[in-house]
Amino acid sequence: MPGKADAVAAAARDAGVNLYRADADHVSVSCDETTTREQLAAVWDAFGVTADVEALDAATEDALPAGLLRSDAYLTHPVFHAHRSETSMLRYLRRLADRDYALDRGMIPLGSCTMKLNATTEMEPVTWPEFGQMHPFAPVGQAEGYLTLITELEERLAEVTGYDKVSIQPNAGSQGELAGLLAVRAYHRANGDEQRTVCLIPSSAHGTNAASAVMAGMKVVVVKTADDGEVDVEDLRAKIAQYRDELSVLMITYPSTHGVFEEHVADICAEVHEAGGQVYVDGANLNALVGLAKPGHFGGDVSHLNLHKTFCIPHGGGGPGVGPVGVRAHLAPYLPNHPLQPTAGPETGVGPISAAPWAPPASCRSPGRTCA
Ligand SMILES: *Cc1c(COP(=O)(O)O)cnc(C)c1O
Repeated sequence: MPGKADAVAAAARDAGVNLYRADADHVSVSCDETTTREQLAAVWDAFGVTADVEALDAATEDALPAGLLRSDAYLTHPVFHAHRSETSMLRYLRRLADRDYALDRGMIPLGSCTMKLNATTEMEPVTWPEFGQMHPFAPVGQAEGYLTLITELEERLAEVTGYDKVSIQPNAGSQGELAGLLAVRAYHRANGDEQRTVCLIPSSAHGTNAASAVMAGMKVVVVKTADDGEVDVEDLRAKIAQYRDELSVLMITYPSTHGVFEEHVADICAEVHEAGGQVYVDGANLNALVGLAKPGHFGGDVSHLNLHKTFCIPHGGGGPGVGPVGVRAHLAPYLPNHPLQPTAGPETGVGPISAAPWAPPASCRSPGRTCA
């Protein structure tokens, strides 16, 4: 639409449809199986086109290329044919539910988010269309209530963690780790400490810690864990001394996944800082601390929180959760941002670490089961 993209987008908006304005000459539209004929007509109107949908549909050949048409059988498992009445289906679902072992039957000895109960009243709101049907790239002017929720949530999380700035872009604790470590890396680089790439991780850590460090371009060095589950402080001191000039960050989980409140945590943080390193406090177990202690005050520079563990965000079948990352002020310039949404992070940020500027819409978070 040479020169007319703004006019077309404005006309569509007046008809209740957001088009993506790519530049002054182009808009972009995508349709799916939920797109209605009325919506198509509204978009045509915005372009100044009049057409009869029914006639066009009748005159248009199926556009699916032959090579993409399915030729094999599908839904062949007997279960798809075994239940032919509502009662039979109901009994089948009940039988499956009876095999489930969850917090409604007893204590689960594994994982963090599995160990707490998501109250139904806490999860129900994600099914409300006001939450679930907001498009992650809707113009911010149409999402002011959302922005209020986001800002308030970020401020409250900063308050309970003792950090200066929080980003809710990460979709899981593991993504928060990556975002936090990228911030640490960018901070060292900005200080001319390009060589600081060693990430110290106690052997008791969650597997995502090492994976995130590798993804952030760091070199993982494992620190021993003592028999009682505490970090082996002697080994930690030795590793700090050995890697003094390359030390980027220590990742420590507090309290640890073994449930141990590291008595020396403040000293450990101080020693890492003294050697020029940063401290990443894995906040997965924040539910043991919240309201009592703040990682940003006892020595952490950065933490992720698992809102699906500490608070009531559902975490469906291993799917997205919410893993905000909190940082002290010196790391705030390196939080995630987003090329399509300038207000979603600092200008100097490390770029997006997930597809949507502020984590996925609630519709992506099934309120069903929780996972480890
Ligand atoms: C769960 C957990 C993580 C990873 O969080 P996800 O949200 O599952 O990606 C990291 N560290 C610890 C200690 C955890 O318990």
